[in-house]
Amino acid sequence: MFWDEKAECMNKEEKEKVQLERLQKTVELAYNNVEFYKKRFDEIGLRPEDIKTLKDIEKIPFTTKSDLRQAYPLGLLAVPREEIVEIHASSGTTGKPTVTAYTQNDLEIWGECIARGLTMAGAKKDYIIQNAYGYGLFTGGFGIHHGGNKMGAITIPISAGNTQRQLDTMVDFQSDILTCTPSYAMYLGESREKAGIPLEDINLKIGIHGAEMWTNEMRKRIEKSLGIKTHNIYGLTEVMGPGVAQECDEQNGMHIQDDHFYPEIINPETGEILEPGENGELVLTSLTKTGMPILRFRTKDLTSLNDEKCECGRTTVRMTRITGRSDDMLKIKGVMVFPSQIEKALLKVSGSTPNYLIHVTRPDILDEVEVKVEASKELFSSEIRKMEKLEKQIQASIRSETGLRVDVTLCEPESLPRSEGKAVRVIDEREL
Ligand code: ZN
Repeated sequence: MFWDEKAECMNKEEKEKVQLERLQKTVELAYNNVEFYKKRFDEIGLRPEDIKTLKDIEKIPFTTKSDLRQAYPLGLLAVPREEIVEIHASSGTTGKPTVTAYTQNDLEIWGECIARGLTMAGAKKDYIIQNAYGYGLFTGGFGIHHGGNKMGAITIPISAGNTQRQLDTMVDFQSDILTCTPSYAMYLGESREKAGIPLEDINLKIGIHGAEMWTNEMRKRIEKSLGIKTHNIYGLTEVMGPGVAQECDEQNGMHIQDDHFYPEIINPETGEILEPGENGELVLTSLTKTGMPILRFRTKDLTSLNDEKCECGRTTVRMTRITGRSDDMLKIKGVMVFPSQIEKALLKVSGSTPNYLIHVTRPDILDEVEVKVEASKELFSSEIRKMEKLEKQIQASIRSETGLRVDVTLCEPESLPRSEGKAVRVIDEREL
């Protein structure tokens, strides 16, 4: 049940002691070896020895994605280059990619964090992991792979895409675990149904899904279409990759591996530290990474922390599912809306599917929103009147969730683009 019971079940005092020792080491390493951090500290007269308690972390300036971009590609290394053994990078769709570099020990820790996650989801050594996260610079594929190797499970590095082959592999190898983005899991579920493969012919038990935002309503659909129990996984390239946090069998928040990463929640506008339970932006500090340590990285992901002991026995602090990214937030007619709220609202209505696209325009001076939703097959072939009724129901559900009046258009099953990696949910054509 536990991969490393000692590390995952420490009491408060033990944990804080470990965290402080590791934080002090990390700060010293970063200050002495990374020009960027030395400069940041010197500017405000902060010295590594000023970090005497965990609370002193608040004296350290935040690090942002733009800081990482300015250091592109390898400006933040804290060790000589010959100690680096692997490099990953973000996609760079909105600017220069951000890069992260790992020493051999960093890879061991990455594997360790993923192995903890696989174990808490119920994986065993003889399980077959069908790893349908993309391999490459993206951290998803290799992260799961290192973890599978660490625990001695059987990893099939099938990567994302080639859906027919995914289905064949599921049936022929009787894979136990599917790892991929939630939108691709949804697509694989649909494809299984379409191909007429009965659930009895596959042996999947566990799904581990992350790298994009998803709701509980989407979870239910995936679980049903593949006959599995799903676990939310969290991580980001800048900090390590997947495995920073993951859900256990309780499906009640993701356990942060907090002996390796120190979490804080801040008010994204003011930077003020928030209390456990309060919703805000997650800030992470690596506690054991040496290749590219990171201090107080602003993730932009909105969540809250829960430090109560979990039913599963773990004491690692839990984060709630990401409700949005502070930079994904849409401001429509002056109202703040997250795509996740729209997804949640539309999936409450039966006959809708989690395949949707939010299209925002400003034809004149007012914002207009059209939400295109694929109807289920049964519904789409029925009378127009039923379709219109469903559109109205979805519209009302979105209105009650967000306060916004939007246009809803039902479209043909499988007419919206599918993604093998991260799904595109919003097209914003306004010139803001
Ligand atoms: Zn738990």
